[in-house]
Amino acid sequence: MPVSPKSLTQKIINSFGAFFGHKQAEEEEEIIYNKQKWIIIGSAHKTMMMMTMSFNTTTTASNASCSLASSQKTSVRGGRANNKLRAQKHAIARQNGRRASSLVVCDGTGKFVVGGNWKCNGTIDSIDKLCASLNSGKITADVEVICAPPMVYIDRVQSKLKAPYQIAAQNCWVSKGGAFTGEVSAEMLKDANIPWVILGHSERRSLCGETNEFVGLKTKYALDTGVKVVACIGESLAQREAGDTLNVCFAQLKAIVDCVTEKDWENIIIAYEPVWAIGTGKVATPDQAQEVHAGVRKWMNENVSADVASKVRIQYGGSVNAGNCDELATKPDIDGFLVGGASLDGEAFVKICNSAAHSK
Ligand code: PEP
Repeated sequence: MPVSPKSLTQKIINSFGAFFGHKQAEEEEEIIYNKQKWIIIGSAHKTMMMMTMSFNTTTTASNASCSLASSQKTSVRGGRANNKLRAQKHAIARQNGRRASSLVVCDGTGKFVVGGNWKCNGTIDSIDKLCASLNSGKITADVEVICAPPMVYIDRVQSKLKAPYQIAAQNCWVSKGGAFTGEVSAEMLKDANIPWVILGHSERRSLCGETNEFVGLKTKYALDTGVKVVACIGESLAQREAGDTLNVCFAQLKAIVDCVTEKDWENIIIAYEPVWAIGTGKVATPDQAQEVHAGVRKWMNENVSADVASKVRIQYGGSVNAGNCDELATKPDIDGFLVGGASLDGEAFVKICNSAAHSK
């Protein structure tokens, strides 16, 4: 049965949880993930050790001979909310007794990630109040949080917000700075210690004429400068009604894939934001969101790699609020949220961050 990365993690945990603390034990389980057969082989010592061994679709569990060498072991690290650990995994293919030459390492933390896009809102007074409210809220879930204030207040917010809040810019220029009136370069963000930038937001696509290709180039430039990217994709209502949702998302993704390397994906979060749900109060149903997220992950598997597809985090954005976040968070391919309106309310935003505890 196909499983999502979250369920994959859970399956690994289930497979080996029983051996936790035992001196040495091995077990094998075959599952299908991203159309590939995965053989999970475990060996438990004092700490839980996990391995995932990957094979392509033509390899069966029975004809594959798999073994573990101590150097191939990796300990479990990091985790999702609700103690749903995500294993860092090494995948070593060994087919018919021959070890494959490639070693794939999954480095993503897999941590649920919530972004607050403050857009072009606020005054010094309201921004100070928002920072105070965020700082006094209790983030109890295991979640990464990124706030994107308007550029003019970014320095102020950065000096006020405490951990775990990180800062993002809402945009940056496509190349090195210079005679580009009104723009901010990725070098400036890097210089000012702004670790993240949101790129390709639908408002910039529709109001500022940013094309897929332009967003792809911007993404690459920001990454090469050392700024991590939240890359937004999503369809309009007309495109959804025409049945084009996935094709639109895939075209937007392809323009990014065409510009970046496989390694770059370690520093990219995909934000799926259906345009018809942004700022409209019309949230996608959890099933609608999950369907697109799963489609995006499958596309990434087919067009980038199984490794990237399994570790890339996909946020949902579009009228997420304190009331609907918990249910959305339960969907297996929803790895976080990008929040507009509700991120201006500290209490609501903290509640949304804590919905990570419902992530499966
Ligand atoms: C956004 O603009 O990224 C967004 C998701 O907005 P809202 O939450 O207000 O729909």
